[in-house]
Amino acid sequence: MSLRNIRVVLVNTSHPGNIGGAARAMKNMGLSRLVLVDPQDFPSPEADARASGATDILENAQVVGCLEDALVGCGLVFGTSARERRIPWPLVDPRECASAALAEVAGGGDVALVFGREYAGLTNEELQRCQFHVHIPSDPGFSSLNLASAVQVLSYEARMAWLHHEESNDGSQKPLGDVGGDGDAERVTSDELERYFGHLEETLVDIGFLDPQRPRHLMSRLRRLYGRCGIERLEMNILRGILTETQKVVRGEPHKRRKD
Ligand code: SAH
Repeated sequence: MSLRNIRVVLVNTSHPGNIGGAARAMKNMGLSRLVLVDPQDFPSPEADARASGATDILENAQVVGCLEDALVGCGLVFGTSARERRIPWPLVDPRECASAALAEVAGGGDVALVFGREYAGLTNEELQRCQFHVHIPSDPGFSSLNLASAVQVLSYEARMAWLHHEESNDGSQKPLGDVGGDGDAERVTSDELERYFGHLEETLVDIGFLDPQRPRHLMSRLRRLYGRCGIERLEMNILRGILTETQKVVRGEPHKRRKD
């Protein structure tokens, strides 16, 4: 098993020095895949300087325009946050995050650890793209770590979990939210889940359950619910099928319902 399948995603970073610092932290701990979402200043000599000998991670870093593009192919996405948000979300500490991340990687999946802007963190919308939130249990009176330091803490925990896994090799980590299912079945990836949420929202509008003028927190709450389940591909096909048939009924198109 390899830490290569755990990617670090930095969203809209303003200081290139922090990108370099994050790359160094990653390389120290054996992580290698860095994805930068709309960085404000990159590539940059300051990033190279702070990376020290980790410039290879910067050279291979993938730069994308939006968070969705950074998460393509991920079965499990963790969003980091320095403070509590309005809608409580399943929250783990860095150790639990690492254990679940390793379990996902052991099952052949990809994992993303998402970090926010220096001044504003991640938006609520970005955090809702993540199945779990991770909070480093810092002093509540001064809770926000430097971005590269936060990357260091999560990378360190990932390494520790990996070392334990290599030592024991008993595969004892259990995926978070693992509540049964077909065992070996593949979990849906973040992009598939996004397409599902789009379809769900459209259907809820079609049936009049969701008022686009007054959406309240309906989609956020549904995202949180689905995020807890660890949905498998077969299950997603069922859910998609239900939506498609529901839309046909609402639109008066031919559908599967029998007339008896
Ligand atoms: N003022 C911002 C702080 C952002 S710190 C806010 O209130 O959200 C920059 C980034 O470092 C955060 O988005 C997060 O990714 C990470 N970070 C900092 N402190 C953290 C903590 N205690 N737990 C988890 N992540 C943290």
